[in-house]
Amino acid sequence: MEPVYHRLPVVDAGGMELHLPVVDLGPSPPRLCVVAGIHGDEPSPLVLVDRLVVALRERELHAGVRIVAAANVPALLQRSRWSSWDDEDMNRIGDGDGGPALTRRLAAAVVAACQGCEVAINLHNFVMRTPLLAVWPPGQSPEHQARHEALLAALDPHVVWVFGDTPNDQHAFSTSLDAAIERRGCHVLAVEMSDLPELDEPLLARALAGVMRVAAAVGCLADHERPPRKNRVYVHRKLVRAPGAGIFEPIAALGGPVAPGDVVGELVPLERPGQRVQIKADEAGWLIQRLGRRFVRPGDMIFTVGRAAR
Ligand SMILES: [Zn+2]
Repeated sequence: MEPVYHRLPVVDAGGMELHLPVVDLGPSPPRLCVVAGIHGDEPSPLVLVDRLVVALRERELHAGVRIVAAANVPALLQRSRWSSWDDEDMNRIGDGDGGPALTRRLAAAVVAACQGCEVAINLHNFVMRTPLLAVWPPGQSPEHQARHEALLAALDPHVVWVFGDTPNDQHAFSTSLDAAIERRGCHVLAVEMSDLPELDEPLLARALAGVMRVAAAVGCLADHERPPRKNRVYVHRKLVRAPGAGIFEPIAALGGPVAPGDVVGELVPLERPGQRVQIKADEAGWLIQRLGRRFVRPGDMIFTVGRAAR
C-alpha cells in the first residue's frame, strides 16, 4: 500500500504559501491520525513516523492511517519550540480560535486533519532521556477514561504520566491542541519519548509496535501485532531543575527506584570546575526521566521522579 503525499493549504501569507504536509495510507477515510512536529525543537517523532510509513507500506490496511509528519514547519525550520513569526505555542492555543497568526492557522489545519478519525496520536519528545510515556489527561468522564485505558493497553507505554486533576490542571488541558482535537470527536493519545541523541532502537521498536497495535485496535490493521509487554506504571511526575549553569553528569540509572537524598547526578559549575554540586532526589519513587551529559542553564529540566498514582 503506497503512501500518498499531499499538502493541505493553510494560508496565503502575503505571497508566501504555507501548507500542512500530510501522508495518507490505505482506504479513505482515515481512522487513525499520527501527528509529529507540534514543537519545532522535538525532532524524534519524525524518526518514528518514518519507521511507521515503512512498516505500513508492507501491510494490508482495512481503514486509512493519516500521518501529519511536520505539524509546525515554521518552528521546525527554526529548531525552536515555537516559531518566532508569532511566538505562539501550538500546543496551548486549542484549534487556533480563528486567529490570524500563522501558528493558529496551522493548529486549525492539524485539528481539521484529525477530524473524522477515531484516534489521534500526538508525538512529542523531551530533552531528558524518556521512556515511551503516555499522558493521562485530567477531568475526563468515566467513559473517556475506559476508552483511554483500552488504548493504553494497545500502546503499551513504559510509563503513564497521570496529570494533576485540580481546576487549574483541567483549565490548562482544556486550552491544549489535544483538547481541541477531542472536541471534534477524536480520542487523543499524547505520547512522549527521548530526544534524538538518546532515541535508541529498543525505544523506537516499542513505540512502533505500540502505534501498530493502536492501528489494529481502531480497525486499520488485522489484529496480528506483537503482544504488549504490559509492564507500564502510572505515576505523578515531580520535576527537578538545574540549580545553576554548567555540565550535568548523570549518575543514577534511569527507571530505578530513588529515595530522598539519593544522588541523581552532578553539576560541573560553569564558573567553578573542580567543585561539583550533587543533585539529589527530594522524594521517593522511580527515576522516570533524566538528562544525559548535557550543558544546562539555571532552571533547565534535569530529571523527574514518578510517584505511583494507583
Ligand atoms: Zn512537545
